Amino acid sequence: MKIDVLVEVNVGTQDQTFTYLVPSELESKIEIGKRVKVPFGNRKLEGFIVAINNQPQDYELKEIISVIDEQKVLTPEMFALGKYMSNITLAPLIHCYQTMLPTALKANRNINIKIKTKTYLSLNKSKEDVLSYIESTKSKIQKDILNLFLDKDLIAKSDIIKKASLKILIEKGLLKELYQEEYRLPEAFKNSNQVNLTIDQLKVIEDFQIGIKDIYLLYGVTGSGKTEVYMNIIDRCLEEKKQAIVLVPEIALTMQLVNRFQNHFGNKVAILHSRLSDGEKYDEWRRIERGEAEIVIGPRSAVFAPLKDIGVIIIDEEHENSYKQENSPRYHAHDIAFYLGKKHHAKVLLGSATPSLESYTKAKVGIYGFLELKTRVNNHQLPQVKIVDMKESMRQGYRILSKELITAIKDKLNKKEQIMILLNRRGYSNYLNCQSCGHTFKCPACDITMTYHKTSDMMRCHYCGYATKKIDVCPECKTKSLRSIGFGTEKLEEELKKLFEDAKIIRMDLDTTTQKGSHSKIINAFSNREYDILLGTQMIAKGLDFDNVSLVGVINADNSLDIPDFRSGEKTFQLLSQVAGRSGRTSLQGEVILQVFNPDHYVIETVKEHDYEAFYRQEIIMRKKLNYPPFCFIASIKIISKEYEKGFKLSKEISDFLKKELPNNTVLGPTMANIFKINNYYRYNCLIKYKNKEEVLETLKKVQNHYQTNQNFKIEFDFNPIHF
Ligand code: ADP
Ligand code: ZN
Repeated sequence: MKIDVLVEVNVGTQDQTFTYLVPSELESKIEIGKRVKVPFGNRKLEGFIVAINNQPQDYELKEIISVIDEQKVLTPEMFALGKYMSNITLAPLIHCYQTMLPTALKANRNINIKIKTKTYLSLNKSKEDVLSYIESTKSKIQKDILNLFLDKDLIAKSDIIKKASLKILIEKGLLKELYQEEYRLPEAFKNSNQVNLTIDQLKVIEDFQIGIKDIYLLYGVTGSGKTEVYMNIIDRCLEEKKQAIVLVPEIALTMQLVNRFQNHFGNKVAILHSRLSDGEKYDEWRRIERGEAEIVIGPRSAVFAPLKDIGVIIIDEEHENSYKQENSPRYHAHDIAFYLGKKHHAKVLLGSATPSLESYTKAKVGIYGFLELKTRVNNHQLPQVKIVDMKESMRQGYRILSKELITAIKDKLNKKEQIMILLNRRGYSNYLNCQSCGHTFKCPACDITMTYHKTSDMMRCHYCGYATKKIDVCPECKTKSLRSIGFGTEKLEEELKKLFEDAKIIRMDLDTTTQKGSHSKIINAFSNREYDILLGTQMIAKGLDFDNVSLVGVINADNSLDIPDFRSGEKTFQLLSQVAGRSGRTSLQGEVILQVFNPDHYVIETVKEHDYEAFYRQEIIMRKKLNYPPFCFIASIKIISKEYEKGFKLSKEISDFLKKELPNNTVLGPTMANIFKINNYYRYNCLIKYKNKEEVLETLKKVQNHYQTNQNFKIEFDFNPIHF
């Protein structure tokens, strides 16, 4: 018997499989979709069996070493999905399969997950037989043990202390041992306080239920009750004996939502959390596969959960960047959800208070169904947004916190209400700069200035992680005139502590949340009112629901408008609206203060009015004028080279080829990528603006097949890229 195996190796030809012989004693274990261990050169690799090979072979084949799995890990459905993904992203098939599986089931990870079992006991004879044994035996202990089983079917072995008597009862055939797989995560229990849905919520659910579209956009302001709508739709889906997937941007930041789902659905929820251990993830995967969990919540990769009959796929905060994977395969969770929706005849529901321009446009023109929740539940008002012009504030000598924000914070502290402050930049200062010669400290491997972190007294590159001790003397001119420019959350925290000595202040950013569970700790502590002020980066902006927050302040709120990216307006609008939505979620009247340098920018003006529609109308004009999505699609071709010159030459060659092959599309570049050098690689970028993907795919496949990539030279294809 011969089999074709797909392994993860960097051999020029994409998706090439290798044929191996199967020793006769292993033949019975062979099944497509299982993993095998094979010799490869002088290495041993793991790979997936993708076919039984019946072709005659005239060269000598090597034998496989072993079959890893008892049960196949890739099902026919997963093979099909992997092929689809590979085709739309141009990623190697093996990357697609690996991405779909939890770590424990990927090939070549050499991870041994222990399956934990727990031993139980049950009666092995009829109740009559047992009763007559109880009558006849003289042993009090044996009587006591057997009596336990008269009204309980299963008892954990660990619960019975008298092991010697137990052993006798098993030997006599009165009791038997049973083994059950034990999961690492504790069971969740229902703890539901049922809400009565509002008329608006019921209408949305009704429209979704009877509608005939495949995909729906639920556009609902923050706090309008979208989460309750999701749970109700899933209730109905479970009644039909179908399962549901709920995608969230990032689990650690959405634990409040997860808890609400667990309270509502108890142990039917499986959570695929990126910070679970490999064993825990494997257990959740198995619970889903066995049908024990019917609702899967997780980040984008949860879309691959092995559900048999999906009834609905919900994507919360559908506009978030995290639904796009940045490394190969560069897939978007939306596309996978749409594919699965078709396969399972399941509807896809996208939810957001600030939809992406693409989704909103599709909903407006009727490609997606459009559902809307216009007001907050219980008529709570959206917060009042005040704009503070920092040019003016700086003139008065307020550099970090404006007078207006300081006054508002004091007021809320007096009222014992809580405050959130967003500054979307971590570290102490943006960078250090020599006042006498102008020297700045760049990362030696990347084309970017390093950020100063005061707590560790280090300068760090936020791209590659390179860090070096801060110095006092300029390496160029040897004077002691280094000054920090700009500021991040660390400095903001220092400033707040200085100004509000009695306030309890906590910071949440990448630097304070490196440990497992640290997000939840901060969120819970703030939620329990152990702190007065929570400050942080965009991490604090999303999804959180604190009932006592009545003021949100945003520092440098319009900074991100300067990023050279056609989506910078959209992203800024989304972030500011999201964080504003954290204020005044209950009966407290919420207040928001945005500190900006461009108070007249339409993004700032429309955030102030909570007017997504107005923002959309302005933004769409710009997109149309400059021909950007949703008026076209964008593909990026990144040429990544160790050598500066060669990188440019090849980029030019590729760009010329694309221009020739795709005369009906716009081909731009090569340009230097926004961050030109990362980790010692130079990065050039070509862009294609297109309408017809088939044609572009064909051409890019030619590029892919033509160039041999290696250690010094790579080409990355990215459809609908987030970074340029
Ligand atoms: P969103 O997901 O749109 O931000 P949520 O579903 O979190 O909104 O709802 C906001 C708040 O209103 C939550 O505290 C939620 O429990 C509450 N809520 C939602 N729907 C109802 C309802 N029908 N009756 C009472 N409270 C509700
Ligand atoms: Zn670096």
